[in-house]
Amino acid sequence: MTTATFDFADSAAFATATRAIHAGQEPDPATGAVVTPIYMTSTYKQDAVGAPRNGYDYSRSVNPTRDSFDAQLAAVEGARYALSFSSGLAAIDVLLRSTLRPGDNILLGNDVYGGTYRLLAKVFVPWGIGLDVVDVTDTAAVAAAMEAKEYRYLWVETPSNPLLNITDIAAVSAVAHEHGVKVAVDNTFASPALQHPLEDGADVVVYSTTKYIGGHSDVVGGAVALNDEETREKIAFLQNAAGAVPSPFDSWLDIRGLKTLDLRVRRHSENALAIARWLEGRPEIERVWYPGLESHPGHEVAARQMHGGFGGMISVQVKGGLEAAKRFAEATRIFTLAESLGGVESLIEHPGAMTHASVSGTTLEVPENLVRLSVGIEGVDDLIADLEQALRVL
Ligand SMILES: *Cc1c(COP(=O)(O)O)cnc(C)c1O
Repeated sequence: MTTATFDFADSAAFATATRAIHAGQEPDPATGAVVTPIYMTSTYKQDAVGAPRNGYDYSRSVNPTRDSFDAQLAAVEGARYALSFSSGLAAIDVLLRSTLRPGDNILLGNDVYGGTYRLLAKVFVPWGIGLDVVDVTDTAAVAAAMEAKEYRYLWVETPSNPLLNITDIAAVSAVAHEHGVKVAVDNTFASPALQHPLEDGADVVVYSTTKYIGGHSDVVGGAVALNDEETREKIAFLQNAAGAVPSPFDSWLDIRGLKTLDLRVRRHSENALAIARWLEGRPEIERVWYPGLESHPGHEVAARQMHGGFGGMISVQVKGGLEAAKRFAEATRIFTLAESLGGVESLIEHPGAMTHASVSGTTLEVPENLVRLSVGIEGVDDLIADLEQALRVL
C-alpha cells in the first residue's frame, strides 16, 4: 500500500498549479478513486449512538466533497482555512454576521459588486451596522476616515467591479491595522491565480467561486479564506447554524474548476491585455479601464500586487453615451450578453442596467456609457473581430 508522503498544501514546496491539482485530492480511501467522489448524501451511519465515523454526522455540518474543495482552496490561497458557501453573497453574509454586532461600522470601497452593496445597505444597515464609503484607492482618504470614526472592517475589491480600480492592499492594511480595523478583500476578479491578499496583509479573503474558480458558468458558490482560528470558529458556527452550504455537486464543480484555474487565468489575462490595447486605439471608445494598460491609474500597484497577469475583466466607456453603450452590448456575436463573469466563454454587459442596477442613485453609481467585458479563453483574433463588427453598428 502506498500512502501520500507529500504535504501538497505546503506553499513553499509546491507551485500554485501543483497545489490546485493535488491538495485535498487524496485518492478516495475506500476505492482509490483518483477524483474526489460526489458524496451525495445528507446523513451518515453511526456505528454507535453519538459516534459518527470520522466526524461525519450530517451534510449541512460536514461533507467529504466540500472538505476536499475547502482543503484545495486553502492550499491554493496559502491560507490556513477556507470555508465554502452556496454563493459569494452567502459567504460575505456569514463572514460579516458572525463577526459584527449592531453598532459596528464598515468602511466600504467606492466601487464594489452591486449585490455586495445591496446586502450591506439593505440588510446590514437596517440591522444596525453603520456603512460609510471611501475612495479606497486613496490611502490618505482611508486613513482620514479611520481617524474620524471607529470601524470593524475595511472592505476592498481590487480590481473592483466594474471599474477595475486598484487598491494597494499592503498600504491600506498597514493603515487599517494601526487603527485596529480588519481588512477583507473580495479577490473574485483577480482569483488566487494572480493575487494573494493574505500575504499582502489582509485579514480575510472572500470569493464568488461562481466566477473564475468555478470557471465554466455552471455553478454558483462562494468561499472565505483566512488564517485566524478564532474567526474561523465563528464563521463555521454560523455556517452550520444557518446552513448556506454548497451541495456536494457544487463542491465537485468547484474542485474541477480550481484544478485548471492557473492555466485558464493566464489565457484570460493574455486575451484581455491584447483586447484592451486594441480597444484603446478605437475611435468609438472614450476610455478603456484595464489594470494591465499603462494608462490605468493603478497600473504600477497592479504590476506589483498581481502576479502573472492582470485578469480577464475590461470595462470601456463608449462615445455616444447610454444608447451607444447598449447598442454595443447587444451587437456582439461571440461575446454573449449576460451577467456574471469568469467563465471560459466571453460575456458582455451593461453594468448600469444589469449587475449594478442596485447602486443607481448612490455614490457608487457607475457611468451610463460603461460596458463591461468578461474576456474568455476563445481565440483572441475571433474576439477582436467580433468587437470590431459590433463597434461598426455605433
Ligand atoms: C458575483 C460577485 C459576488 C457575488 O457572488 P455570487 O456568487 O453571485 O453570490 C461578489 N463579489 C464580486 C466581486 C462578484 O463579482
